[in-house]
Amino acid sequence: MMQISVVIPLYNEEASIHELHEWILRVMTEHQFTFEIIFVNDGSKDHSEKILNQLAQQSENVHVIHFLKNYGKSQALHAGFKVASGEVVITMDADLQDNPEEIPELYQMIVEEKFDLVSGWKKVRHDAILTKNIPSKLFNKVASWTSGIKLHDFNCGLKAYKKEVVKCIDVKGEMHRYIPILAKNEGFDKIGEKVVKHQARKYGTTKFGAERFLHGFLDLISVWFFTKFGKRPMHFFGALGGLMFFIGFLATAWIGISKIYKLWNNQPAILVTNNPWFYIALTAMIIGVLLFIAGFLGELILNNNQHTQRYQIKNSTKQSEKN
Ligand code: UDP
Ligand code: MG
Repeated sequence: MMQISVVIPLYNEEASIHELHEWILRVMTEHQFTFEIIFVNDGSKDHSEKILNQLAQQSENVHVIHFLKNYGKSQALHAGFKVASGEVVITMDADLQDNPEEIPELYQMIVEEKFDLVSGWKKVRHDAILTKNIPSKLFNKVASWTSGIKLHDFNCGLKAYKKEVVKCIDVKGEMHRYIPILAKNEGFDKIGEKVVKHQARKYGTTKFGAERFLHGFLDLISVWFFTKFGKRPMHFFGALGGLMFFIGFLATAWIGISKIYKLWNNQPAILVTNNPWFYIALTAMIIGVLLFIAGFLGELILNNNQHTQRYQIKNSTKQSEKN
């Protein structure tokens, strides 16, 4: 079996392709790996397409996938993962910020130390301090804390995977930042980290602006939610809805009972509708019911969607019948 598939997503990186290809080639020949390089051109508007086609023609180790337009890094990784056939799959950015010299050690960690996934850690980072390094530190802390995965650099482009992992995980949207969490969700929890060398961007500019952090945090909330309640939405919405309804119900009961008590004892009592608590109680009960309905809808969608993968079988002695 082929040992390594290198998957490289790229968008407008014409200046670095040749250099990167030669560097990877050098490392692979030095260590005598059997390998393939899969470049996924994410709708580049520069000359990347032409350069890649030439490379693919010259070298049988190089494969290229061209997207019709720019769909984003996650989609590019997904397309590469689908066709990768190496025992170990390594992803790296195309901008020469990730160092191909790390490949042999990453490969060893997967094959010999039996990691499911090894994520690079750009311990010494050559990016803008204020706009990237500091927010990224915060972002990694939160991701590590919410997922329970002890990594310092979730979004490092340089990662190595056991083949089964990339065939299982579904990277979409902008979820490339959370691949270790996606892998853990699928049961691949032997996740390691390796300090990797990082270079400053040699050519071109970064493709992600400051909005990356806003998107990143919003996605993190989604990932957290999917991880915990993706397969059982009612447990989330039902619990929250039940709580709201209960609070509303208690407040209503209190308003009603105190009104009756005052009338009974001939004390002055304001109209229930003049009592501000009445509206708070009413709103809480309505929100409670709405949350419950959201829970039911979630369960309905899950139940009716036959394509939802509910479990992954590692191996089985019984093959399913084909009809
Ligand atoms: N990339 C991509 N599609 C996009 C944006 C980026 O394939 O829509 C690629 C890009 O060409 C590079 C990698 O993803 O190979 C990382 O992007 P970049 O270097 O801009 O990110 P940064 O290093 O600033 O985090
Ligand atoms: Mg980069």
